Amino acid sequence: MITANARAVFSPEGPFQPTTIERRELQPHDVLIEIKYAGICHSDIHTARGEWGPVQYPLVPGHEIAGIVRQVGSAVTKYAVGDRVGVGCMVDSCGECENCRKGEEQYCLNGHTGTYAAIDRYGQYTQGGYSTHIVVTEDFVVRIPDSIELDVAAPLLCAGITTYSPLRHWGAAPGKKVAVVGFGGLGHMAVKIAHAMGAEVTVLSQTLKKKEDGLRLGADHYYATSDPQTFEKLAGTFDLIVNTVSAQIDINAYLSLLALDGTLVNVGAPAEPLPVQVFSLIPHRRSFAGSMIGGIRETQEMLDFCAEHSITPEIEVISANQIDEAWERVLASDVRYRFVIDISTMGKE
Ligand SMILES: [Zn+2]
Ligand SMILES: [Zn+2]
Repeated sequence: MITANARAVFSPEGPFQPTTIERRELQPHDVLIEIKYAGICHSDIHTARGEWGPVQYPLVPGHEIAGIVRQVGSAVTKYAVGDRVGVGCMVDSCGECENCRKGEEQYCLNGHTGTYAAIDRYGQYTQGGYSTHIVVTEDFVVRIPDSIELDVAAPLLCAGITTYSPLRHWGAAPGKKVAVVGFGGLGHMAVKIAHAMGAEVTVLSQTLKKKEDGLRLGADHYYATSDPQTFEKLAGTFDLIVNTVSAQIDINAYLSLLALDGTLVNVGAPAEPLPVQVFSLIPHRRSFAGSMIGGIRETQEMLDFCAEHSITPEIEVISANQIDEAWERVLASDVRYRFVIDISTMGKE
C-alpha cells in the first residue's frame, strides 16, 4: 500500500481534517501520480454533504486532479515517470459495454467508477484528489499539454470537459448562436470554449455584476435574467443553450429563447424536477437535453484544444487549510471562477 496525506471530512457537516489514506499497490496498468493541484467543484460539496445520496466517511473529495507520474506498473505503455498528467471525474469503467467501446466511458452501461465516493473493481472505496497521491489505471489518465500550467489545468478535468463535450456534440461553430446560463466555474469555461469554437456567445446571468469579465473572457453579449425584457428581446434566438445552473430556473422561459431546431442542454442538475411544458418544445422542434462530463478520448481532445487556443480557467489558488472557507465561498457564489488547492501545502500536521 502507498500512504498519501489527505484532507477529509468525517461527517456531512465537516470540517476538513488532515488524515492519511492508503492507495493500492500498483497493478500492471496502474500509474502513481503525485498530485500538485486539485480543483474544487460544486459536486464535491453536494457529494460530501450527502445531498446526492449517502456516502462513507471519512471522505476525500476532488475530481479535478493535475500532477506528475512518479511510478508506473509493469505493463504501462502510455505514460512514463515524470509525465504531466490529469485525472477527472472517473477512474474506471467496464471497458466492454457498447458505450465504453465507443469511448463514452462516462455513460458506461455498468456504471463508471467515480474518482471519489464509489466502490472500485478491487472493492475499495475511492478517495479523490484532495490528497498528495493517487493510483489510477493508465486508460483513465490524460496528458496535460506542456503549455498549460498544472494549477490551471486542474479545473479543465471537470469544468472544462463538462462544457466542452456538449458544445462539440451540438455543434458550436461559426454562424451558431450559443447562450450560456450562469457565469460561474462551469459558465466561464463554456464562454471561453464556445468563443474559441467560433460561435457567437451570449451570457445569461442573474445580474450584470460580472458583465465586464464576461465580455473580456469571450462573450459577445451579456444579459441579466432578472430583467424580464431579456426574455422578450431574445425569444427564438439561440441554436444552443448550455445551462450550467443547478438551482431551479423557469425552464420554459429559457426554452422560449431557442431558435428552430435549437437545443437546451443541462450540465448542472437541480435536486427537484424541472416542469417542462411540452408546448415550449413542439412549435420550433426544440430539444431539451442533458450531458455529463465527457469520455477519456474527448477529455484529451479538450486539453489539446485548450492548449491550441490558449484557454485556461480563471483561478484562485488556496492552501489546504482554506478548503472549508473556500467551500463556503463556492456556496455563496463568491469565487472568480474556480478554487484550486495547492497540494504542496498539505503537510502531515
Ligand atoms: Zn466536478
Ligand atoms: Zn462500460
